[in-house]
Amino acid sequence: MLRFEGIFKDYGGTPALVGVDLDVPEAQTTVLIGPSGCGKSTLLRLAAGLIRPDRGQVWFEGARLETASLRPARLRMGYMIQDGGLFPHLSVRDNVTLMARRLDWPRQRREQRLAELADLVQLPPAMLARYPIELSGGQRQRVALMRALMLDPDLLLLDEPLGALDPMIRFELQRELKGIFARLGKTVLMVTHDLAEAVFFGHRIVLLRAGHIVQQAEPRVLLDSP
Ligand code: ADP
Ligand code: ADP
Repeated sequence: MLRFEGIFKDYGGTPALVGVDLDVPEAQTTVLIGPSGCGKSTLLRLAAGLIRPDRGQVWFEGARLETASLRPARLRMGYMIQDGGLFPHLSVRDNVTLMARRLDWPRQRREQRLAELADLVQLPPAMLARYPIELSGGQRQRVALMRALMLDPDLLLLDEPLGALDPMIRFELQRELKGIFARLGKTVLMVTHDLAEAVFFGHRIVLLRAGHIVQQAEPRVLLDSP
């Protein structure tokens, strides 16, 4: 599904990634964890095609990301960041359907998908006309997830998706998101710096330190290791 091979990335200071090899298996949640600055977001941005590696290759669904035209690949990915990244000047409806409108989906198909997604993330339909600033933090992340799911992507890239939320809302959304990923059978690559969250979501946990992968294991194995 997604594979990183021999990835090096340097923004000009301390290298962000130094020789990373990683396979992200289909229909599972892979969690990247590690201290701030260890390169987690950089890996996600590489997968999303937002930046390019200095050396190495990123493969997505059998094609090299850096050589293939990015747009078709990006349409197969949903990307969600910590603060939701919603456009403040667009309503919830317009945020979620932005790409579908660019792709000329007919109105009826857009509205049907929108209703399906609102139901999936339990967003009251009345919220669709609101603007991001009129939503709670938890509702904003529900909408960000709707936007990420709108085109039914093969891969979800989630960068600290719940990192900005209050503990109780976070707890509630963790359960809901995990249920949604399992139900949809999505391939997920998620970044967190919270070990409990990593263990809760991850079929596989990848531990990064200073741009290296230091360990990859199932949560059980990781917790039992010294
Ligand atoms: P993490 O997500 O684990 O906190 P990042 O991937 O954001 O780590 O960052 C890895 C390293 O790359 C850090 O040293 C960070 O300061 C640096 N870095 C990340 N983004 C940029 C950027 N746009 N410009 C310069 N340095 C960056
Ligand atoms: P353009 O290159 O024409 O400006 P982009 O591909 O950058 O368009 O998309 C515009 C916005 O839509 C960006 O904020 C991007 O993050 C978001 N976006 C693009 N593809 C997806 C997707 N598959 N799922 C969710 N959001 C997406």
